[in-house]
Amino acid sequence: NSVLVGGGTGFIGSHVCKLLRNKNFHVKIISRMPGPNRITWHDLEHHGLPTGTTAVVNVAGQNVLDPTKRWTTGFKQNVWNSRVRTTAALSKAIVDATDKPKSFVAISGVGIYEPGTSKEYVEDDVTSEFDYFSKLGIEWEKAAKLPEYITLCRQITIRSGVVLGQDGGMIKQLYLPFYLGLGGPVGSGSQYLPWIHVEDLARLIVFAIEKDGVSGILNGVAPQVITNKEFTNVYAKALWRPALFPLPVSILNAIFSKERAKLITEGQKVLPRRTQAVGFNYLYPDIKSACEELVA
Ligand code: NDP
Repeated sequence: NSVLVGGGTGFIGSHVCKLLRNKNFHVKIISRMPGPNRITWHDLEHHGLPTGTTAVVNVAGQNVLDPTKRWTTGFKQNVWNSRVRTTAALSKAIVDATDKPKSFVAISGVGIYEPGTSKEYVEDDVTSEFDYFSKLGIEWEKAAKLPEYITLCRQITIRSGVVLGQDGGMIKQLYLPFYLGLGGPVGSGSQYLPWIHVEDLARLIVFAIEKDGVSGILNGVAPQVITNKEFTNVYAKALWRPALFPLPVSILNAIFSKERAKLITEGQKVLPRRTQAVGFNYLYPDIKSACEELVA
């Protein structure tokens, strides 16, 4: 069993690869940097899938919330291409392969759902374009879809919430201010914070590879719906620190520009209805248990 993981060097990707290796899968990574047990995107384009690939995963993507990068047209293009083009390259490689892998698991984000306080979103909800991230999400998911005549390879797209783990993503940026007692909610803190622990996301990706019959969209969020303020309080408590300093939305808008800051200043209420219906069990279903692991 050999799994090809696009973006396997990243925060989510490294957790996926570790779990796969622990389960005795052979893992090959697609990276921009060549190395042992790696191929590049260029290799994929020119030589197709490595022989013997039984499953394909894509978790590549330029970090959107990099505060050192200005939100320019060029950077937006990088964010777009690193997701949509890599995913499309993998779909094409699967279509062209004589020996098809059994599954293709791609990621997208809950940014495909419109932020708000009333609507609850589940996987079957119709999605439509309303801003940059929803357009990106729709194109990203379209790129992952295999043509209907490809019946031998199941395709799963996981719409992930904010991924919580000690070694990357949001927690890596929040740890120091919170540790210093300088943490607090973003704005009023009343916006939803769809979230998942990185170990559960890795487990969900491997579940999608292993579980015969599963295909389509799965919301990659924990079953406990929380707001930004609830997260702030539980995380600060786990660190034994106060969380008294709200982070003004205006400052985030100035650092990231409003269009991008939305990812932090707004949120949507997302439920993992199908994910649970197909039998996935969470290690960290509630924010308290997740935060206890994050500070351990
Ligand atoms: P990381 O930044 O940790 O890793 C992403 C990987 O993508 C990198 O290791 C890199 O691999 C590759 N990559 C980066 N830039 C480019 C580029 N311009 N072109 C091609 N490949 C590139 O991200 P995460 O692991 O946090 O996220 C992975 C994916 O999951 C992203 O698409 C992200 O949007 C999505 N996601 C993440 C969430 C989160 O909270 N972290 C939430 C929802 C979705 P290399 O350097 O080896 O080429």
